[in-house]
Amino acid sequence: MQGIATEFISPIRVKQLCPIINIDVPRYPVLGALWQPRGGTARHDAVAWGYARACSAMGIDIIQQCEVTGIRKNAGRVTGVTTTRGEIDCAKLGLVVAGHSGVLARMAGFRLPIESVALQALVSEPIKPCLDVVVMANTVHGYLSQSDKGEMVIGGGADGFNNYTQRGSFHHVEETVRALIETFPMISRLKMLRQWGGIVDMTGDRSPIISKTPLEGCFINCGWGTGGFKSIPGSGWGFAELMAKGHSPLTAAFGLERFAEGRFIDESVAAGVAH
Ligand SMILES: Cc1cc2nc3c(=O)[nH]c(=O)nc-3n(C[C@H](O)[C@H](O)[C@H](O)COP(=O)(O)OP(=O)(O)OC[C@H]3O[C@@H](n4cnc5c(N)ncnc54)[C@H](O)[C@@H]3O)c2cc1C
Repeated sequence: MQGIATEFISPIRVKQLCPIINIDVPRYPVLGALWQPRGGTARHDAVAWGYARACSAMGIDIIQQCEVTGIRKNAGRVTGVTTTRGEIDCAKLGLVVAGHSGVLARMAGFRLPIESVALQALVSEPIKPCLDVVVMANTVHGYLSQSDKGEMVIGGGADGFNNYTQRGSFHHVEETVRALIETFPMISRLKMLRQWGGIVDMTGDRSPIISKTPLEGCFINCGWGTGGFKSIPGSGWGFAELMAKGHSPLTAAFGLERFAEGRFIDESVAAGVAH
């Protein structure tokens, strides 16, 4: 529908593209796959540095290690923020804090229809190149790619309960590794180097919120769940237009009011899910 190159491919073609996969697994044999030849990975920290440098070059101040601890308002309008490094006055405020959106919304005096849960990933010791595609196996629930440094990058599901722990639960490590060993037996010999969790902001329809809020002058961009990295250019563009002009054709469908109106976005490949 969106012109993205996608092909249904046979198990033989899956094996050609990804020789380390076991297509004849006992529980869920591989019957085929969806292949997106133009799909790939990007190094997320390098992307963040790139944006930061470009913003800095445009004269935008980026203040690091500076936590917002309060949102100031007067007569229903935002007037500024209180931070660990002092007060900042503003007539407009954009909140883009992912898993902590509920915390910031509380400071602003409203509630959000989102849940915050931990999503974790793990990374193996580096090995020689053996995988040049990203493989997602949603039935067994795991995904695998290889980084430029040779580490196997492994991801699984989000925690089933709300939390802010930033490490994720043990049963997910076990389930994900079990699923991936079944699909890629060669990784059973690898040592895992590190594991971490980030807090993701899940909405009821798994689509984001890019919206005005009940506090005049305060805007929010959240609800990207487990898939907000890929959406940064489009979401940033739409959010900037919304804040500057008060409306944007790109963000119109993603307003907060859709939850009160029961107008969920019915999109099976919604942005708030993986990749
Ligand atoms: C393990 C894992 C794997 C993922 N994999 C993918 C993937 O493959 N593809 C994909 O598209 N997406 C993926 N995501 C999701 C993606 O990382 C997020 O959707 C995206 O980073 C959200 O971007 P953001 O700019 O909205 O928020 P963030 O990048 O989370 O930035 C929010 C910032 O707000 C700051 N903040 C919070 N509270 C305060 C406060 N009180 N004061 C000041 N600052 C504050 C935080 O420190 C943080 O720097 C993954 C997430 C995780 C955790």
